[in-house]
Amino acid sequence: MASREVTARDNGRTAWSRGRPLGVVCPCGHRALVPLERLAVGPGDMRPLLSLALACSACGRRGGDRVDDRGAPRLWLLSSAADEAAFLAAGRTSDTKKEPHPSRPTGAKEGAS
Ligand SMILES: [Zn+2]
Repeated sequence: MASREVTARDNGRTAWSRGRPLGVVCPCGHRALVPLERLAVGPGDMRPLLSLALACSACGRRGGDRVDDRGAPRLWLLSSAADEAAFLAAGRTSDTKKEPHPSRPTGAKEGAS
């Protein structure tokens, strides 16, 4: 199973079945691994993972329903210890530069309507 970002369809059971910590990426650039024990998830856990109000230890931003203009922390399902290490390393190396924005074509006409 490859690592992937958590979607609205993933619940506590999804994380529990992976048996690995949940990766959290805050818009402020902070990354962390949250152990499953701390999430208290289990096989019958149908809570959507995106509803978990995880707070960023660097800036205090919270996940869950409260989303401001910079967005909420994003959650990742990781599949191995190597993926976890790579996940954290990616945060360290991108400290000084912004993550690339999802394709926004340059030169495209805007405000045509
Ligand atoms: Zn943060």
